[in-house]
Amino acid sequence: MTELDRNLDKLRGFMSRFQQNGIRNRIAGKDHDGSGGRFDNESPVDQSLICQVARSDASDVHAAAQAASDAFADWRDMAAKERRKILINIAKGIEARAEEIALCECWDTGQALRFMSKAALRGAENFRYFADQVEQARDGQHLKSPTLMNITTRVPIGPVGVITPWNTPFMLSTWKIAPALAAGCTVVHKPAEASPLTARLLVEIAEEAGLPPGVLNTVNGFGEEAGKALCEHPKIKAIAFVGESRTGSLITKQGADTLKRNHLELGGKNPVIVFEDADLDRALDAVIFMIYSINGERCTSSSRLLIHDSIQAEFEAKLIERVNNIKVGHPLDPATEIGPLVTQEHYDKVTGYFDIAKEDGATVAAGGVQIDGPGFFVRPTLFTNATNQMRIAREEIFGPVLTSIPFSTEEDALQIANDTEYGLTGYVWTNDLTRALRFTDKLEAGMIWVNSENVRHLPTPFGGVKNSGIGRDGGDWSFEFYMEQKHVGFATGQHKISRLGAL
Ligand code: NAD
Repeated sequence: MTELDRNLDKLRGFMSRFQQNGIRNRIAGKDHDGSGGRFDNESPVDQSLICQVARSDASDVHAAAQAASDAFADWRDMAAKERRKILINIAKGIEARAEEIALCECWDTGQALRFMSKAALRGAENFRYFADQVEQARDGQHLKSPTLMNITTRVPIGPVGVITPWNTPFMLSTWKIAPALAAGCTVVHKPAEASPLTARLLVEIAEEAGLPPGVLNTVNGFGEEAGKALCEHPKIKAIAFVGESRTGSLITKQGADTLKRNHLELGGKNPVIVFEDADLDRALDAVIFMIYSINGERCTSSSRLLIHDSIQAEFEAKLIERVNNIKVGHPLDPATEIGPLVTQEHYDKVTGYFDIAKEDGATVAAGGVQIDGPGFFVRPTLFTNATNQMRIAREEIFGPVLTSIPFSTEEDALQIANDTEYGLTGYVWTNDLTRALRFTDKLEAGMIWVNSENVRHLPTPFGGVKNSGIGRDGGDWSFEFYMEQKHVGFATGQHKISRLGAL
């Protein structure tokens, strides 16, 4: 029996309950059908039916928002130590079911197991990290003035909506939900319609860990139905959103009437800039990792390679050899590096760029081929002879597709890097310290790594500039979003109060 067979065996065990019961909404600790019926959820691996999922409308969202609102005061007022204990229990529950989470995630999204097993554990890390912040989350400052002792404190904003995408959905959901719960907010979670499985596992784990009913509610369905209703609901005070830039703009519009606070983590067309003096072997590894891991379905992927023209030919030749060696296959095979893309729609979008590249005059130097179905498999692809004006350099493809663009000077590299509507991440490879300082100072991105791939450190701020988003996650920045600042001034004496209308 191969490792793949063993994993498939385990998966069958995990799937039978979903096949029998489908995925229902979870509201106030109880299962509910969606008012809009059900929709089919297919696996991108072989296009087989995984299960049916509740299709929710505004009435279901209302029930969930009401449950989150009813649960809010008790959760907010629970002693910090108690809340911390529950969050730690959730982390332990995730660790205990990490294999189930990883296998379900792979089957639901097409992501390779080698990455998803780590993503499940990173979900637990998110809970542990924010659990440790619970006790100081409300702490403020004292800002003494001549007549007043001013103090500040923070209070949770109220019930919040969390809307997540289908790429690494479990990890991204925990990234939003863990700090929201740690802040004392209650949550209505609307997972992506293409990847509902692990959101269901998360709410189950949370309730088993002692999270009171109604503190985390999961409502399934489509963005323009359930997602829109969540943004519009008056009891929901803020929306934490991860997804495409154009959806981010809709989130803002939909929340306008109820004056929603929005945190938007959106798309990217991130540059990796390789200078001639860099450690080219390490740069090559990082360039490959940052676009071809996680199927390239990664907001922080470096999808534009800016390569100094003096090393372009050699670097691209090595790149082509490595890209052609990448193993595309069944996501549950531990050897697989790239699995199938998430949906037919996304597959059509990504593969559509193979022709767009040729029409624009670029060269398909590796990949550029679809693999016969069933399943949405593509070969990892590299476009060379490209310019930054081509669509393959300007639009977020969100697949295992890299566009290589040469530059001749540092100024040239900076101009190309910044010539994009996005600004999520940037990666700079150089051994010249002053150049690294100069370049990162001018590079328009929320997050930059020098001589490194993206290595997430939870206390650091995560988020983008330009069309890549508004707001930051991580460390205390998460609490700034999920909490309100409150100021209280205490008079310290008998300071003069202006007397209007007094004789
Ligand atoms: P998407 O915007 O299509 O969907 C994301 C979520 O929004 C889904 O749950 C969807 O149902 C919901 N949605 C859609 N329309 C809505 C509406 N009108 N109102 C409310 N909700 C609505 O994104 P996707 O295709 O699922 O995910 C891929 C995108 O996410 C990429 O652009 C990627 O760059 C981005 N992303 C960004 C980050 C980041 O941190 N910046 C992280 C991961 C993914």
